[in-house]
Amino acid sequence: KPQVIIIGRPNVGKSTLFNRLVGKRLALVDDQPGVTRDRRFGDATIAGLEFTVVDTAGWEDDDPETLPGRMRRQTEVSLEGADAALFVIDARAGLTPLDEEIARWLRSQTVPVVPVANKAEGAAGEAGAIEAWSLGFGEPVALSAEHGEGIADLFGALWPIIGEKAERRETIDTEAADAEESDEDAPLGPLKLAIVGRPNAGKSTLINRLLGEDRLLTGPEAGITRDSIAVDWRWTDPASGEVRDIRLIDTAGMRKKARVTEKLEKLSVADARRAVDFAEVVVLLLDATKGLEHQDLKIADAVLQEGRALIVAINKWDVAENASSLFNGIREALNEGLAQVRGLPLLAVSARTGKGLDTMLGAAFEIRESWSKRVPTAALNRWFDDALAANPPPAPGGKRIKLRYITQSSTRPPRFVVFGTRLDMLPKSYERYLVNGIRRELGFEAVPVRVVLKSPK
Ligand code: GDP
Repeated sequence: KPQVIIIGRPNVGKSTLFNRLVGKRLALVDDQPGVTRDRRFGDATIAGLEFTVVDTAGWEDDDPETLPGRMRRQTEVSLEGADAALFVIDARAGLTPLDEEIARWLRSQTVPVVPVANKAEGAAGEAGAIEAWSLGFGEPVALSAEHGEGIADLFGALWPIIGEKAERRETIDTEAADAEESDEDAPLGPLKLAIVGRPNAGKSTLINRLLGEDRLLTGPEAGITRDSIAVDWRWTDPASGEVRDIRLIDTAGMRKKARVTEKLEKLSVADARRAVDFAEVVVLLLDATKGLEHQDLKIADAVLQEGRALIVAINKWDVAENASSLFNGIREALNEGLAQVRGLPLLAVSARTGKGLDTMLGAAFEIRESWSKRVPTAALNRWFDDALAANPPPAPGGKRIKLRYITQSSTRPPRFVVFGTRLDMLPKSYERYLVNGIRRELGFEAVPVRVVLKSPK
């Protein structure tokens, strides 16, 4: 197991950090002869990354004058077995001369140092964290050991250093890193749904059908609707009997009396753009009597560019001809035209008869789930290691591109950050390999997934 030592002047929160990392697992007091009795050892786990953490808080002394010397002597012994050092400063107090003294000494050592700005909750802490850059160890990890914030970032900083040596658990142990990530997993509110499409695709008819009242003006004339912007309503899912809340965003209504001079075709793309500001899931409505046109792909592309979940519904299915070849043709054209997603939900509906509408809404709730999903860091990195092993990154000029670890930086839409070195040399095809893997193997099929490459400073 790799060993990580916690270093810092008194009162910066070393023991609190130690206890946070070790959690309920009992800290072992080392009583081997010849080892300083002041050191505490504990088993730490962050998101499946296991290591031994060493607390040096016991070195603190009643007489601060002698501290640097004592610290040096004691730390020298401890550093011998250490794979990484967490150099803790107090973000609230800011840097002190003693911090700087320790930093100077640490720079003369060979152990990799991760600067940690503790007590970084709130705005006062933020300033201190920025100050910690000046220690010369790169980007500080801002955290609050007491509140358990920022532990996932600590994982991000430690992984490149000790990840290879660490034994990772077989079962996903997500306690520390994922406890704080779970804020985001608050229950999802009403499904924010927008329906977009070219003029005359049947958007207004569809909305009226869904709401069960003639709230919007519909007719053969294109682009005549201008009504309310958002409508809240309850839908009972016939498949499960569940009652679910939906906020429907009426993009046609957002046109605000469409300036007739503007081309209607252009307007529908603009509508889609505006809709995505409000919507989680967007339904692109096609007209079965027209098929898929270039304009539809442009709208779909705009939705995906904005990172929204997309569903395609072919309307007017009641009057569709050659239904199966129409459907398959559209499926193929979508796969070809929209490289950024695979297997978009494609449904046949009729706003007039109501056919397929419950299926469409069910699909909308389902795709919102994957769009909102977070993969625990440990599971993500297990997949990542396998993906790299199956297809190692190339070695341009004989020097291998190193991909070290991956984290999911956000959900809704899902975004991932891959850390590594020589990333500018990584071919686009390899990036696509990773994106496709995330989609296929981690359950992000059909949602826009973004991957950013980052080299640590
Ligand atoms: P919008 O411009 O997208 O809002 O389109 P509208 O809702 O105004 O519909 C345009 C035309 O298509 C109207 O004449 C509707 O009656 C017709 N329409 C809409 N949905 C259907 C459908 O499911 N089947 C058939 N046969 N016609 C439809």
